[in-house]
Amino acid sequence: MSPALVVTTLVVIGIGGIFARSMVVRVLCWLFATPPLLAGCFALWQGGIAEPFSEKQMFVFCAGAFWPAFGCLIGQILTYRSRTVHLGRSALTVAFFSCLLGSPCSADNLLSNPAFESALAPHWEKRTPEDETHTLRRVEHAGRNGSAAAVLENIQPSYTRLRQGADRSIAVEPGSLIELSAWVRSEMTDDADITLQVYCMDAAGDGILAQPRSPAMSGAFDWTRANVWLAVPEETAYVMAYLQVQEGTGKVYFDDVELAVRQKPLPRPPAPKVVLLSDLPDDSRCLADLKTLFEDGLIPVAADEAATALADARGCLVLYEDQEAPKAVCDAIESFARSGGRVFMDIRNFAQWQAAQAVQVKVGTVKGVPAETQMEAGVRIVSAAPVTAGFAPGQIMPRASFPEGNLWVLPKDFKRPGMEVLAVAAQDEPGIVQLEVGEGLVVAADVLSLREPYCRNIDAYYKYTPITNTLTNPVQFGRYFARKFTYAEFVDQMKAVADASPKIRFAEEGPASDGQPICSLNLGTAGKPLYFFYAAAHGSEWEPGYGLLCLAGLLAEGRFADVVDLGQVEVKIVPLLNPSGYDARRRQNANGVDLNRQGEFEWERFQGRDSNENGTWEAFDYDWKGTAPLTEPEAKVYRSIAERENLYCVLDFHGNTSATSNKLAVLPATARADNGIRATRLQQIANARLRGRHLLRQEPEEICKQYLLERVQQGGRTPFLMNNSAKNRYGLLIELTAGYPSSYGTVLQTDVTCELCRALFEAYPPGE
Ligand SMILES: [Zn+2]
Repeated sequence: MSPALVVTTLVVIGIGGIFARSMVVRVLCWLFATPPLLAGCFALWQGGIAEPFSEKQMFVFCAGAFWPAFGCLIGQILTYRSRTVHLGRSALTVAFFSCLLGSPCSADNLLSNPAFESALAPHWEKRTPEDETHTLRRVEHAGRNGSAAAVLENIQPSYTRLRQGADRSIAVEPGSLIELSAWVRSEMTDDADITLQVYCMDAAGDGILAQPRSPAMSGAFDWTRANVWLAVPEETAYVMAYLQVQEGTGKVYFDDVELAVRQKPLPRPPAPKVVLLSDLPDDSRCLADLKTLFEDGLIPVAADEAATALADARGCLVLYEDQEAPKAVCDAIESFARSGGRVFMDIRNFAQWQAAQAVQVKVGTVKGVPAETQMEAGVRIVSAAPVTAGFAPGQIMPRASFPEGNLWVLPKDFKRPGMEVLAVAAQDEPGIVQLEVGEGLVVAADVLSLREPYCRNIDAYYKYTPITNTLTNPVQFGRYFARKFTYAEFVDQMKAVADASPKIRFAEEGPASDGQPICSLNLGTAGKPLYFFYAAAHGSEWEPGYGLLCLAGLLAEGRFADVVDLGQVEVKIVPLLNPSGYDARRRQNANGVDLNRQGEFEWERFQGRDSNENGTWEAFDYDWKGTAPLTEPEAKVYRSIAERENLYCVLDFHGNTSATSNKLAVLPATARADNGIRATRLQQIANARLRGRHLLRQEPEEICKQYLLERVQQGGRTPFLMNNSAKNRYGLLIELTAGYPSSYGTVLQTDVTCELCRALFEAYPPGE
């Protein structure tokens, strides 16, 4: 039904309600007026923020919903009373409904002078002062309704920016979902980039915590609404709003700018209480890591206060580095465990508690050898258990001191009733153990010998994982791969996954540029909304592809049944889109083309860089786009999937090892208007589950951080493949920590990949 027809029908019902004098017609009018009334009430009850309605859209919706019932009500009043006497009462009714209509629509605009009714100063500031290249002015009668507008003019190509909030006047509670929107009209040339941008700043004022932009607009166009969403990061002290144009010449007009909170922060449950009993000094790196991981749930206490502090604790952590664990500590943890508590002890403390001595053994070589050799230095899993979640029996969890390659373990003949050995060193010495004590559990492993979990520290990558697995938030979906497969081997793995479940169908989608087949795993119900997951369009960014291999199995096992019904969706998974790049650890395909610059969107305009500095931008340069869009064999296969009628949502995984370039989602420029809020919802869902699970440091971070999806930002005018597939649909690209020299990060990488896919199903449910 067309919107015009709906509006006309609602208007007719409303007018009919006013003038109907026959009882039958009045009853009919009420019957037709009630459903939209209920829908409108429901929307109001929901706060009107479930969908990203603009204020105006919300008003139109409310008016439509309430108008017919309003008309019927007036009709009733006029019928029962004289037409003239009760005008006062009608007026009151009008006022009542006006208030009702107004209340959900007037989300508070955080900006001052948003429609430029008065001079730009003092609220609007020329971030780029006027000079011979550009001007920034308030112009009367240039706005949408004949009012004033802000007009940015590039006399020569330049970066021209108007902003508000540098005086720290705009504070927003972290965790809020905010939207910056404005109406924009342009007389610019095609090479201009017109955007809105929000900056989230820390208390010092020099740290940018987020800086998302709206999709870039260019060329000349009439009044159009532009917007950008974001979840305000933790530690944001204030936000700034920018209206700007980069490059190009001509004028761009801004009017009715709004910065508003669309959703208050989701309730953040307190971090679980973990009592820390230790002698770690205040400046200990390990102590800092634990505080980051357990947040304010970590409660360091003195030995004599242990028993009291443990009364309401989720778990207990015992880490004495230079001294023995005091007797009071041993007594307290024993009684805590007996009553069902969970305890993690450094293995030296554990041995001493059990009246034994830990021994230090060499578990391998960690310095000056290839990654695969470093990965052999650790403990071999002998029993599958939640404490070693992600590792299968027979696999080695990398774990050793650096540079010695040593580890503290229990003596080979150490045994206790109720103790299970979960992992052993080279001579079968117990390296990770769990001891049942009463209703509870005490787990021990060497933690204190390890350096920090930096992304290249293979020997310490899982330093804290046995602790979080035991006490708080264990690995859910992660799986360790002992080595990187060749592409042919990986395809065999895919076939094995498909053979293991009748719910998974293996398919060859078409040939890649080196002739190898591009393969997919398919689940769900043909013809239902299609979810397309893929990775390694850049061949060197391969680990999330292993996560997608896990995803297929998890979906088939029903592990995601709480968020997706395979009867209602179709799922296509292409774990490795670029086989030759994967095999060669190369970004481009066999023809030297960057597949993620092969999309049609802005392909003509896109200019990459001559990365080998030979004077021309060409094949095998960093981001060579090819000779025409969607012409490479991999891109043709991609196009055939992107053109599927029932394609609904896409998720494209990439990776790198820079903390500022991963933990990041990038949105397509071509997706539906509510894609941004859904992606932000995905971020919230995934982060709530990943909170306190993985700790990692990457460059340029100086300290370890929880591994979370930190940012969602708008992609620019780049010919990403997803700008084809997600056009007028939903989708996003996610950059994770990846592109490692070997597979040692796969527990974290596959765990996070699968959590993000799970969150995608929840944030983008199959809909209209
Ligand atoms: Zn990439």
